[in-house]
Amino acid sequence: MTAVDSTKTLCPYCGVGCGLEVLPSPQFDQAGSGQELSGQSWKVRGDRAHPSSQGMVCVKGATVAEALNRDRLLYPMIRDSLNDKFRRASWDQALELITARIQTVRSTQGSDGVCMYGSGQLQTEDYYIAQKLLKGCLGTNNFDSNSRLCMSSTVAGYVQSLGSDGPPCCYEDLELTDCVFLIGTNAAECHPISFNRLQKHHKKNPHVKMVVVDPRRTKTAEDADLHLAIHPGTDIDLLNGIAHLLLRWDCVDADFIANHTEGFSEFQEVIQHYSPDVVAERCGISMSDLETAARWWAESNRVLSLWSMGVSQSSEGTAKVRAIINLHLMTGQIGKVGAGPFSLTGQPNAMGGREAGGLCNLLPGYRHVKFLEQRAEVEQFWGVPAGQISSNWGRTAWDIITGLETDEVGLLWIVATNPAVSLPDLERVKAALWRSPFTIQQDAYYPTETAKFAHVLLPAAQWGEKTGTMTNSERTVTLCQAFCLPPGEARPDWEIIAEVGCRLGFADKFPFISSAEVFAEYVQLTQGRVCDMSGLSHDRLRQEGPLQWPCPKEESGIKVAENLAPIPDQSLPKAAKPAKRLYTDHQFSSADGRARFSADHSRGLAEPPDAAYPFVLTTGRLYGHWHTQTRTGRIEKIRRMHPNPFLEIHPRDAAKIGVEDHSIIEVRSRRGVARFPAKVTTAIAPGTVFVPIHWGELWADQAEANAMTHERSCPDSKQPELKACAVQLTPIAIE
Ligand code: SF4
Repeated sequence: MTAVDSTKTLCPYCGVGCGLEVLPSPQFDQAGSGQELSGQSWKVRGDRAHPSSQGMVCVKGATVAEALNRDRLLYPMIRDSLNDKFRRASWDQALELITARIQTVRSTQGSDGVCMYGSGQLQTEDYYIAQKLLKGCLGTNNFDSNSRLCMSSTVAGYVQSLGSDGPPCCYEDLELTDCVFLIGTNAAECHPISFNRLQKHHKKNPHVKMVVVDPRRTKTAEDADLHLAIHPGTDIDLLNGIAHLLLRWDCVDADFIANHTEGFSEFQEVIQHYSPDVVAERCGISMSDLETAARWWAESNRVLSLWSMGVSQSSEGTAKVRAIINLHLMTGQIGKVGAGPFSLTGQPNAMGGREAGGLCNLLPGYRHVKFLEQRAEVEQFWGVPAGQISSNWGRTAWDIITGLETDEVGLLWIVATNPAVSLPDLERVKAALWRSPFTIQQDAYYPTETAKFAHVLLPAAQWGEKTGTMTNSERTVTLCQAFCLPPGEARPDWEIIAEVGCRLGFADKFPFISSAEVFAEYVQLTQGRVCDMSGLSHDRLRQEGPLQWPCPKEESGIKVAENLAPIPDQSLPKAAKPAKRLYTDHQFSSADGRARFSADHSRGLAEPPDAAYPFVLTTGRLYGHWHTQTRTGRIEKIRRMHPNPFLEIHPRDAAKIGVEDHSIIEVRSRRGVARFPAKVTTAIAPGTVFVPIHWGELWADQAEANAMTHERSCPDSKQPELKACAVQLTPIAIE
């Protein structure tokens, strides 16, 4: 690797999107000889100039460089069957093999036999090239990403309620709010730097109220003025119950409702059924706590709500998001400073992926495959035949698995993600992956649990080794600059995918010699859309630092990629204005400019507990680890911080089944089984148990949270209910 001076980049873990500065650092022998070791190492510190994080970093960001040189996949590897050993191949051999297999699948099964499954770890340029190849050139919408498991309910909720995806708020609102509701989000551990900003504001200003809604007493809940430990699956009951009280007390913004919304009377009809006694009973909270929460909402000038996976990983995830937005609409708490519905995105570039169309129902620029004019805009821009882009959803993450089961998927290309740990119902997933006729895994690391199911391994450049952009939860786009060369023969993801496109005969669609050129083409497709970033370029981001969208070309005066066909103006919605916040003029993104109330009754859990499986298992993340540990499992400090998986169980339940702290408990659902040491704690409510998601086969025996979870999903977003399933618990005697 080649050293350079301090480089500004972005943390590649969570959606907070903290700015980092990286400097070369000599590495010394740990045994104390004072000997400088060969090989480059890097010092990472927070970038004080980054507007989102202001110099702060958590343990993940601070240690990320330690995994750059560990267990890297250095060369393409291939094998004929999963029972064979991998053998090294040249890039030419590997890409020829992939190209030939894609052609075979297309000629025998059609393009829909090809699937790519990506990740919020990818940069926007990677995402864009993948969309162009799959959706534009091959004519299949079969690109989905692990954002399907993360925040796809939020995407659907924003679109249905506000007319478009896109969080309307910014991090500054964390420091300007009077009352914050954190619903289904353990931000203190999972979005620690955003939470730091909120926590400081909360501590400094005694009038600021913090309400946390979570079945667990998380670190976030420990800071709350009010913790509503609701039963899993009762979020909509709670939210409708608060709406009921606001209406009963006449604490609604009648002008806002009349002038900027639709559907209030249907909503009124629904919430009349959510009286405080009914809601308190269903949620397992007291009526006075419910009333306190509603009163704080009613009395505060600025109300902000934050949520993440606890809301969206649900079989009614989209309805939950809509229920949160309902509260903001009925009180006019949106489009103003310190207020609004604000999703906290999980992954570093899940937002960029959404903007680039990186789900199987989306197209670049927050377009949807179901709209003819939006497909036509993209087809025309890409120069592909009219009708090339299908109006049907492609395969979602779970549909890829069922497609493997039914032999409808002939080739699966997995990029920067580890589905053999992260998908629900793992036994079924592994069986499906095992029968896959041809699987490519493109990743920076080896081994991973998913590599076991691959026929081809492609070494990918990762954070610090490639330059591209990422968008964080507050719509800030940061240029993530390379500061070293990739090891071995690893290459940037976009380059690999583009080269396959060229070999398949689409060289004219992939003329790019740098990721800056890819970005310059991509941003044109956002012009006039809510997520307009046509005023951005790599050069501008390098010179001016991170910038939020909307950032239209007109305002910036920047000209981009003029050799490409402009999108006809008449097909575009009106241009968004550059702003920290969306909808400050209360003109929403729907055709009539109005937001929509939704009238949803709670349906509860897809798999409620019963006599045979009497406990609810809920899952979540820990402060130090990231997802399936592909990177953090290789960082000593984080492994020491979280050495083992565990199961949180309430003392009453522990006594009932006869276990103590550290006893081994077997957890069995209708789909699978795992074992965990018990952590007996009142932080979890009776009847519910919690396990972290981070441990796959590589890091522990029989401790996979997703061995037990199920695939039943939200009808709107197709996001599986990873947060809750019914289980039975059995103590295991250790001999
Ligand atoms: Fe990275 Fe998220 Fe930690 Fe910031 S809060 S340093 S983005 S993991």
